[in-house]
Amino acid sequence: MVSFAFDDEHEQFRKSLEDFSRKELAPHYRERAASTEFPFAVFRQLGELGVLGIGLPEEFGGSGEDDPVLLGLATETLAYGDVNLASAPVQIGLIASQLVHGTREVQERYLPAMIEGRETVAIALTEPGSGSDASALSTVARPENGGWLLSGEKTAITWACNASAALVYAREPGSSRARGVSCFLVPLNAPGVTVRPAPGMGCLPLGWGSIHFDSVFVPEEHLVGEQGRGFHTVMGHFDFSRAALGLMCLGAARASLDEAAVYATQRETFGRPIGDNQGVSFQLAEHATYLEAARWMCYRALWLRAEHRPHTSLASMSKWWPPVVAKDAIESAMKIHGNLGYSAEFPLQQRLRDVMAYLVADGTAEIQKRIISKEILARGSVSF
Ligand SMILES: Cc1cc2nc3c(=O)[nH]c(=O)nc-3n(C[C@H](O)[C@H](O)[C@H](O)COP(=O)(O)OP(=O)(O)OC[C@H]3O[C@@H](n4cnc5c(N)ncnc54)[C@H](O)[C@@H]3O)c2cc1C
Repeated sequence: MVSFAFDDEHEQFRKSLEDFSRKELAPHYRERAASTEFPFAVFRQLGELGVLGIGLPEEFGGSGEDDPVLLGLATETLAYGDVNLASAPVQIGLIASQLVHGTREVQERYLPAMIEGRETVAIALTEPGSGSDASALSTVARPENGGWLLSGEKTAITWACNASAALVYAREPGSSRARGVSCFLVPLNAPGVTVRPAPGMGCLPLGWGSIHFDSVFVPEEHLVGEQGRGFHTVMGHFDFSRAALGLMCLGAARASLDEAAVYATQRETFGRPIGDNQGVSFQLAEHATYLEAARWMCYRALWLRAEHRPHTSLASMSKWWPPVVAKDAIESAMKIHGNLGYSAEFPLQQRLRDVMAYLVADGTAEIQKRIISKEILARGSVSF
């Protein structure tokens, strides 16, 4: 018989993170979210809790066993308290999935530092002229004695302003589309690198910014993975990050709906709690329903990945719909709070701004629907 329960180990880990998320993260979320400083002290706490090494090699401090479902549970649970910090295990999972194809030197230098929560590494794919159409990137890597010289501009990069290094995707001169694109590990203090902050409407502590490369020398040992195959390697890993990001948005929405559920029993108008009105309580019922449906879709995508079964379309579904479900749920929770929902003294407006980033980050809804519809049309079926 099919089971929707998590096993004991997962449940235990979830409970310990839930405790941390509600007691340690939630009380200072607004404060952290209003600052462009990356909260390294709390990041280190996540490292100590083992959150940053899920599925990463044991020799570098990780848990060893690949476990996408556990990573989903971790990010969903942490997002209840702080959606910005909750993105850290997903981002590290994505970066590390590339770094494990790097040289021993690069792995030893960066993997333990990230898993312990001491340092961050960015992933730099998007450029001013290429976002959704990522393989149209134009950053170039010209061969040079003992390595390459990188020139180009990356934009909209998470962790740009706090990272020690970035994984940079650049193409060999004369190549086009996905062919000829390689991945390079570039320390951000290398000569020729300029980082510029570009804060958005939310996610401030994540240090969003652009990175400019002006003939930056990258030694041979800093090639990550096979030369000319970098684009294909990274694309396969978006399938896991997309489902995990969906769960993360849902975690933030759950916190907002819980707050609205409590408020609806406390706030009175016309002599009775506002929750006695179906205009209020049905909003909670509807968003709880969407949340539940979206949540299990994400976990199914992660479970299929754990089983090494096809999950690309489900991952894309988990990336486009849950952020919309989350945004709508948070908006409803804000409305239930009346003027307080709009107040900067409450976390709701902050969550809305932070969650809205994921309508675009890691691929927009239109790009996800392109992936899903392509598979549907090729198979002549909507069953996955
Ligand atoms: C908060 C945040 C964090 C990010 N972090 C990173 C990061 O760490 N590293 C990184 O490399 N990038 C990052 N990005 C960039 C992100 O991946 C891109 O913004 C995204 O892929 C969209 O690209 P674009 O902004 O160039 O939009 P465009 O590709 O120009 O798209 C503009 C609009 O056109 C639509 N569109 C485009 N093509 C089609 C089509 N064929 N059919 C239908 N509609 C289409 C899009 O859906 C969108 O609505 C981040 C973005 C955000 C917002």
